Amino acid sequence: MTRQISCVSKIITRASSFCLYFLRSCVCHNYNTYHTHIHRHTHTHTHMWQRQWTDTGKGAVTKAFFPFVRNRLRGKIPIFPEFTVLVTGHGKLRSYLHRFGITDNPMCPCEEEEQTADHLIFQCKRLTNQRNNMIKQIKDTGGDWPTTKETLVNNYLHIFVNFAKSIDFTDLQ
Ligand SMILES: [Zn+2]
Repeated sequence: MTRQISCVSKIITRASSFCLYFLRSCVCHNYNTYHTHIHRHTHTHTHMWQRQWTDTGKGAVTKAFFPFVRNRLRGKIPIFPEFTVLVTGHGKLRSYLHRFGITDNPMCPCEEEEQTADHLIFQCKRLTNQRNNMIKQIKDTGGDWPTTKETLVNNYLHIFVNFAKSIDFTDLQ
């Protein structure tokens, strides 16, 4: 068990993949074992993990969703490509592909601005219907819009997940 934690610690210090591993580490097949262990050693490990998470220069988008490791460890986050793109800013986003020279145009096909995770969640007119549906559900539960990304995952995870599922990235390339 200690070796598992040690392994995870090593992984999370690999800053280049930091945020993806951060997301995956708690949803892998041995989630329950890992989760139990984390709770037994919660102060030491969570504190250490939080310090590394706070200090790393990577994962800015993901940090906006999950600034606190302790909160992140409380809940299971479903992982699928569209959701991962939104909470990491990596993957099939034109701004991301452009940064790595994979595409020469960072602009969203809506032509309003660069295609970032924030753009898709809050602005893109190609997702107006999906977003309005999400906003309606949030307001139906007494919530406000716009809201922060942290609130989206903390308070409206199910609604936000459905929004992510409703995105067809082939329509956004
Ligand atoms: Zn757009």
